Amino acid sequence: RAKSDGRSCFRFFDCGMDDQVVEAFRMKADLRTALQEGQLKLHYQPLANLTTGDIIGFEALLRWTHPELGQISPVTFIPLAEETGLIVPIGEWVIREACREAARWPNGLKIAVNLSPVQFTTGNIVEVVASALAWSGLEASRLDIEITEGVLVKDADGALRILNAFKALGVHISMDDFGTGYSSLSYFRQFPFDKVKIDQTFIRDMETNPQSRAIIRAIIGLAKGLDVEILAEGVETEMQIDMLKRKGCELIQGYAISRPAPIEQFDDIVGGRVDIDLDQRAA
Ligand code: C2E
Ligand code: MG
Ligand code: MG
Ligand code: MG
Repeated sequence: RAKSDGRSCFRFFDCGMDDQVVEAFRMKADLRTALQEGQLKLHYQPLANLTTGDIIGFEALLRWTHPELGQISPVTFIPLAEETGLIVPIGEWVIREACREAARWPNGLKIAVNLSPVQFTTGNIVEVVASALAWSGLEASRLDIEITEGVLVKDADGALRILNAFKALGVHISMDDFGTGYSSLSYFRQFPFDKVKIDQTFIRDMETNPQSRAIIRAIIGLAKGLDVEILAEGVETEMQIDMLKRKGCELIQGYAISRPAPIEQFDDIVGGRVDIDLDQRAA
């Protein structure tokens, strides 16, 4: 009996299941030990101020090197970590690791960390953040928590309680990927954001698509009126930089400044020895 069950199970995998489903199944299992085995690492991507030419901080972005499958994108494994609940311990490690790293940086550089909606509904995220700050010695005002609309849609009251608790700690809150989901204007009245990050899909085609340009202009106008900081994500070209500058967008992030990389590659930036060269980009 047991033997034939095993065989039918195998047949199920061989013929019935899509390769991607099998791979996702395997990744979920392997993700369980990835943290303990040291396969997870943070990369960092600079955030730049176009007006002053300063790098103001970095966003921490999770990377997984699987022993056999190699680099797996967070776009693939974060949803698996969310489904299995592993995002809770993994996310806690990310916060502690990012705070520990940023606490060493001079010059008040900021650190931005992404939180999953699952971390808002499972465990005690406020305690996790408070204890990471205390443990690392990082000033709360140097930590930026990035959330997506998913957090607000599911349980607005619960989310508001948590965001207010973050504000009470002195942590800053950024609305990530803005413009892609519901993007309700009432979010800004309801929730205490310090910064809005315009989703990269609008930046990507802003040179050719007037609709994207109009949306970017509207988001910038809204943010200015509400005294919320504005950052454009996924900035790749000089032309995009010039257009954003003209529209009054001060902060940018993207390959035009730098790709995400291990922090060791940013020694000069962290040490305050380089700024971005705006004259060279002004053309
Ligand atoms: P995100 O938070 O919106 O992060 C920005 C993503 O855009 C990153 O992708 C970054 O590498 C990419 N990017 C930055 N500049 C450019 C550019 O100029 N061009 C293009 N094409 N892409 C650019 P990445 O690192 O693959 O991360 C994808 C998403 O995975 C993140 O989007 C975030 O939602 C999620 N993620 C990453 N790390 C974590 C984490 O520690 N926790 C959670 N919950 N989610 C994470
Ligand atoms: Mg982000
Ligand atoms: Mg984003
Ligand atoms: Mg994104």
